[in-house]
Amino acid sequence: MERTEIIIGGDTAGIEWRAPVFRFEGSDATAPSVYIQAALHANELPGVAVAHFLLEKLRAADAEGTIRGDITVIPQANPIGLAQSHFGEMEGRFDLGSRTNFNRDFPLVALAERDTLIADLDRRSAVERLKRTLLHTALGHDLVLDLHCDDESLQYAYIDDAFWPEAADLASALDMQAVFLSDGESTAFEEAVGHAFKHQGGDKLKTVPGRLSVTVELRGRRDVYAGMAARDADGLWAFLAGRGVVADPALSVRAYTGPAVPLDNIEMVKAPTPGTILFHRDVGETVRAGDILATLITHPGEADGTITVAARHDGLIATRNSARYARRGDDLMKIAGHEATRRDRKPGTLED
Ligand SMILES: [Zn+2]
Repeated sequence: MERTEIIIGGDTAGIEWRAPVFRFEGSDATAPSVYIQAALHANELPGVAVAHFLLEKLRAADAEGTIRGDITVIPQANPIGLAQSHFGEMEGRFDLGSRTNFNRDFPLVALAERDTLIADLDRRSAVERLKRTLLHTALGHDLVLDLHCDDESLQYAYIDDAFWPEAADLASALDMQAVFLSDGESTAFEEAVGHAFKHQGGDKLKTVPGRLSVTVELRGRRDVYAGMAARDADGLWAFLAGRGVVADPALSVRAYTGPAVPLDNIEMVKAPTPGTILFHRDVGETVRAGDILATLITHPGEADGTITVAARHDGLIATRNSARYARRGDDLMKIAGHEATRRDRKPGTLED
């Protein structure tokens, strides 16, 4: 194993950030290579814990000589966001200087143009240098996993159609409860990687066998526990074994039996008016159209001071807002349905 660091000099004097990078060299040049990063949104820590346990397994495998493909793990990918403290809370999602989401504005380049990402890096801001260095590193691999989490959530992933159903082995290995099939049309890290894989130099490819770029949502922000993270690390290990990146003949991959739904099937349940939220249903529950999901206390103390919010379609509650006050139009839940419920969705991810 080789441990290096991505070192990002600050945009002001006297500042420098460091992100450790762990590299394992595989014994078989024909085996797929893998890149795994966690906490690009610095306040999403389930992936950091999973990467920590996975690295423990990989160090042991390295000592036993069972690593076949090259593996790179960056367990805490965003030291800039990690250091942003604002009114007592970590602001890990947006760069405070530019108000830009740390998981947007990744450059969209073809795989053949990979090295242009790191040309003239010194002229770019610290956040741009971090993004370009991460993307450049990832594009040196066949399989790329970006570990995120949602607010309150079951475990699911955003997977571009181009990698489905080949990626069902990852969903099965991690025991995901849902897969959201996306169109790959945004500037998120996962989609910049997918863009490069689909534009390897010539025309856009519809499918890219042997490649993968995925955003894994490791449940909710507070779902950071030793047992849970160790199980997910075992799941990632099983995925790596199934793809031949590590050798573990004892493992066999089961078929994925959970739902795989297009983003057009995701009902975003919104708060029609502001109010204090009383949820009646939790993530992981299935609901029928008309079921009451939440009561909003819009006028506390008044006899008619509440309204109810009902499901408009049958489906599975995938995520829930952790806040208990809703501003008008806030998202309360994401419900994965059986049919397309949205005709107004803009291309790109819902959020991640
Ligand atoms: Zn995220």
